[in-house]
Amino acid sequence: MLIDKFNRTIDYIRVSVTSRCNFRCLYCMPNTPFEWEPKENILSYEEMFEFLRLAIDEGVKKIRITGGEPLLRKDLDKFINMLYSYKPTLDLALTTNGYYLPEYAKKLKKAGLKRVNISLDSLRKEVAAKIAQKDVLEKVLKGIDTALDEGLGVKLNTVVMKGINDNEIIDLFEYAKNKNVTIRFIEFMENERAYPGIKRVDSNEILEKISKKYKFTELPKDNSASKYFELEDGYKFGIIEPHSEDFCKSCNRIRLTAEGYLIPCLFFTESYNIKEAIRKGDIKKAAKILRDVVRNKPEKNDWQEDEISERAFWETGG
Ligand code: SAM
Ligand code: SF4
Repeated sequence: MLIDKFNRTIDYIRVSVTSRCNFRCLYCMPNTPFEWEPKENILSYEEMFEFLRLAIDEGVKKIRITGGEPLLRKDLDKFINMLYSYKPTLDLALTTNGYYLPEYAKKLKKAGLKRVNISLDSLRKEVAAKIAQKDVLEKVLKGIDTALDEGLGVKLNTVVMKGINDNEIIDLFEYAKNKNVTIRFIEFMENERAYPGIKRVDSNEILEKISKKYKFTELPKDNSASKYFELEDGYKFGIIEPHSEDFCKSCNRIRLTAEGYLIPCLFFTESYNIKEAIRKGDIKKAAKILRDVVRNKPEKNDWQEDEISERAFWETGG
């Protein structure tokens, strides 16, 4: 079992399989050039699997594949199936911008994927295109429907930005509610790669807008990053508020990047690389790095407007 020094059990790994993306979201990587990653720098699926097998044996129960845009990496379904075949009870999930789901959802489900979180920041074609810097809305909405049709568990993620999409909170909420899909509104996390003019909308403002139309109660907090709320008719939605005091108390996750960096906390710049150990077949060393990362997991993140993180979301996978 992996337990950190604040007595949190780490049983969840987010794996970024690529830092490439076909979107250029204003809050994430608005100015990053479209480049190929040199193949030798990134872990192969077999190398990632070697490491993840170790983590599963140490007690990891949930793996979320993310990126960049994970569906840009070839044969993702084969990687998912490697993990599924090793442990069919694993909670196997994917975070995606949804653009390629119309093509891939069926294959992914067949490979063993259980759930998918899809980013949806606007229901207006022009606004979605402004945020992603690409005309994306039609494909993303089709991606959501295809994932649902295939029987995947679906949640939606919306980063709320002042003056850009904060006037759509109710529209997005009702779109999700009509499909009986949980939507989570995410507070924008300041970082130095984001478009400089972006301003976050605090969780209390988001909740206030929803409360003008709907009555809800807060559900007891579990160890997910979200706080969940329930309407009187049973519909559930969430808020992700990394700036709040208790966000880190129940954190159960670490992150692996495509280049082999193991990251104990999204905010902190420290990381440890497992690539060399895995490539040399030194499993004992890889296991030691895993335990060290868990041991050194900081108690709290520190998302502040005046102390902007240099962490790139598209490398860590959010
Ligand atoms: N490309 C996929 C997607 O967009 O869902 C997966 C990678 S993306 C980096 C993972 C998550 O990070 C997404 O839900 C995205 O909205 C979120 N994210 C990226 N930059 C963010 C920021 N500055 N603040 C809050 N959330 C952010
Ligand atoms: Fe790409 Fe996801 Fe970042 Fe948007 S949030 S640029 S879709 S990695």
